Amino acid sequence: MAVRVIKEKCAGCTKCVRNCPFDAISMEGRLAVIGQACTECGACVDVCPFGAIEKTAEEKKTADISAYSGVWVFAEQRENRIMPVVLELLGEGRKLADEIGTELCAVLCGDHVEKLAEELAAYGADKVYLADHKELSVYRTDAYTKVIGEAIEKYKPEIVLLGATHIGRDLGPCLAVNCGTGLTADCTGLEIDPEDGKLKQTRPAFGGNLMATIICPDHRPQMSTVRPGVMQKAERDDSRKAEVVKLDVHFEDGDIRTKVLDIVKKTGEMVSLTDAEVIVSGGMGLGNADGFQLLKKLADRLGGTIASSRAAVDAGWIDHSYQVGQTGTTVKPKIYFACGISGAIQHLAGMQNSDYIVAINKNESAPIFEVADYGIVGDLYQVIPAILEELDKSAG
Ligand code: FAD
Ligand code: SF4
Ligand code: SF4
Repeated sequence: MAVRVIKEKCAGCTKCVRNCPFDAISMEGRLAVIGQACTECGACVDVCPFGAIEKTAEEKKTADISAYSGVWVFAEQRENRIMPVVLELLGEGRKLADEIGTELCAVLCGDHVEKLAEELAAYGADKVYLADHKELSVYRTDAYTKVIGEAIEKYKPEIVLLGATHIGRDLGPCLAVNCGTGLTADCTGLEIDPEDGKLKQTRPAFGGNLMATIICPDHRPQMSTVRPGVMQKAERDDSRKAEVVKLDVHFEDGDIRTKVLDIVKKTGEMVSLTDAEVIVSGGMGLGNADGFQLLKKLADRLGGTIASSRAAVDAGWIDHSYQVGQTGTTVKPKIYFACGISGAIQHLAGMQNSDYIVAINKNESAPIFEVADYGIVGDLYQVIPAILEELDKSAG
């Protein structure tokens, strides 16, 4: 639906201006004009005493979706290194492409990045669309949106996947608007509907209390950003080769509105939770920030890293970069120790795909035990030293 003012009927009373909750109406002389902020809520239609505003049926714009094919993965690279999430997207993309009987392609942008195409082939890309240009050496929204947007328009992929990284979360919506399609952000599950071949995109909604499955029925491509650490990485096979399609890249003055003056790397703590094989995570049950020292002993002993619940971050006990969960990092280690963590759904969203979950909690009915493979009911300040002691003994 759209909303319009019937010029002939508008008496210029301004009642609609005062009643629009979105400040979308202004007066041009004695005529009300509806601007871009209009959300089509319809409030002004009812309020106009002269029946001068009406809702009109807008022609549904549907693209010729049959013209689209192929699953594309945005091959995000930084400093000429492929980001780990790309390998996960290639793993998932392969499954989707096989199910709908189409090819899996990677889109690679950068400066002198052609070599990376071989890596993308090894991880399963049948084809690599390559945009190699000095203006693409570091990510800038305008430059990447233009190049990839033009490629989407030309080659018409059916599905486009991006990592829900800082870059992917910026680029995805820009591309979607550019292509006039939708985007499901931060997906944790993707599957093909066997009935109609459409992409079902699942993501947490309402603060993680339920999972929403979203489809994009009338527009193409179907676009998703996918949380790092959720999907299985593709297997590397160096014997695989991919066709490389070089994209025609050129920029006019004004195409790129930003300049990168300097890149300042954060010198603070850098934690790589997504790659860790053992994670020892702590929550409010630690009682204070010092509790993480004990967890660190266990993590060091097992060659792992520590992590935390959001409540411990909010308490100021540990940096946000350690947070696991819906608003933190999604992890998939071989073993996840949840120590003094209750198991709120938002925490589970970030760790329940771990291979093994060991929960240590004083409260035997804590929800964490429902997802744990091994549950230890007890005080973590007794249980963890006991585990360390046993590890020392077994090490001889
Ligand atoms: P609590 O729920 O307080 O649990 C502490 C646990 O420790 C209890 O089970 C208790 O029995 C146990 N315990 C106490 N003392 C001991 C002891 N000595 N030994 C052993 N066990 C002990 N949370 C996240 O973790 N990650 C997120 O990304 C996240 N995102 C969120 C997003 C939204 C929109 C919202 C609304 C919430 C989010 N949360 C997130 C918060 C989440 O809902 C919980 O509040 C949080 O996970 C609770 O943290 P916790 O388990 O450490 O603390
Ligand atoms: Fe015109 Fe109706 Fe708005 Fe009054 S309320 S300015 S008549 S459109
Ligand atoms: Fe404002 Fe709603 Fe009318 Fe749009 S439809 S102009 S948002 S009152």
